[in-house]
Amino acid sequence: MQALVLRGKEDLVCREEPVPRPGPGELLIRTKAATICTSDINDIKYNHFGIQTPMIMGHEAAGIVEEVGPQVSGFAAGDQVCTHPVMPCGKCGACRDGLHHLCGDMEHLGLNRGGAFAQYFVIRADRARKKPQGVSFAAASLVEPISVCLEAIHRGNVRKGGSVLIMGDGPFGVICSRLLKGFGVGQVIVAGHHPFRLEMTGASTICKDQGEVVEKEIFRLTQGRGVDTAILCVGSGTAVNTAIAVLRPRGTLSVFSAVEPAPAINLFRVHVKELNICGSCNDEDLLDQAVQVLESQPGDFEDMVTHRLPFSQWREAFNLAVNGKDQALKVSLLFD
Ligand SMILES: [Zn+2]
Ligand SMILES: [Zn+2]
Repeated sequence: MQALVLRGKEDLVCREEPVPRPGPGELLIRTKAATICTSDINDIKYNHFGIQTPMIMGHEAAGIVEEVGPQVSGFAAGDQVCTHPVMPCGKCGACRDGLHHLCGDMEHLGLNRGGAFAQYFVIRADRARKKPQGVSFAAASLVEPISVCLEAIHRGNVRKGGSVLIMGDGPFGVICSRLLKGFGVGQVIVAGHHPFRLEMTGASTICKDQGEVVEKEIFRLTQGRGVDTAILCVGSGTAVNTAIAVLRPRGTLSVFSAVEPAPAINLFRVHVKELNICGSCNDEDLLDQAVQVLESQPGDFEDMVTHRLPFSQWREAFNLAVNGKDQALKVSLLFD
C-alpha cells in the first residue's frame, strides 16, 4: 500500500509499505479520508512526542472495514466507520482510575502505531463507530477533534446562558465555537487574527486583536462582568494572561493548548478572583457524543473541511494546511 512515512524531522515521504494485519479485537480499515491535524504538522516539524521513525503518520480518519480480526463483534466487512486514534491500555493507574483518556501507556495512531495517511490502517474495534449516513468520510474523520473539543468545553464548566471566550481561531477554536451552539450558551466570543477563520467560527462576536485591546473589548461586550469560561485554543502566553484578566470571579480557564515557552502568569489575579484553571487533553469517553453531534449538525462539519484532495496530492494538501490560513481550515486527503 502507499503510505506517508515520517523518516525523521521534516522528512515525510510517500512510499510502499506492507498492508497491516488486524490482531485480536482489531479492524483493518480501507481508508477513505484522513484529515491533516495541526499536531501532524508539529510532529513533522519538531517531533515533540519523540516518535520513533520510520512511522506512518495520520490519526484523523474514516473508511470501510476491510477485514475483521478475531474476537470482534458488532462489525462486518463493508461497514463504513469513523475512528478515534487513542487506544488506552486499560491497566495503568490512570486507566484503573477510570481516566482512560489520560492513560500513561496509550497507543496512538501515527505516534506509536501505524497511522492513517495510508491506503489501509488497523484500529482497535472499541475505538471505531459506524459512520452516520449522509455524512461524508471527510467530515466523519473529524470525530476525534470533535471529541477533544467537547472535552475542552466540559472542562470549562460551560453553562446554559453563560458567556464563553475562545482564544484562537485555528481548527480547534472553530470546532469549539460551532459545538457551543448545542450548549445553549448566551454569548460566544472568539479572539483571533485570521479574518477567514474568524468568519468560519460563526460566532456572534469576534475580536481581531490580542492583549489589552481584547481585554477592553471583552469587558465592554460583557457589560464589565467578564466571561464565565475561557477556552485556550492557541499556544500563546499573551492569550493565557488575557484570559485570566477577563474571566469573571470563579470563572474557569480550560487550557486546551500547549503553551511554549511556559508563560509567566498573574497568580495574584487567580487568587483574588478565585479562578479555576484546568487542563484539557484528549477526551473522557466522548466518542459517542461526537458521533451524535456529527449526525445532528452535519453541515457545520462538512464545510469545515475546506479542501479535499486526492492522496496523490499530499504535498499540496500539507502546504495548504501549513500556509493556507486565509483559505483553508481542515484539509482532507481522499483515497479511492
Ligand atoms: Zn488531531
Ligand atoms: Zn492505561
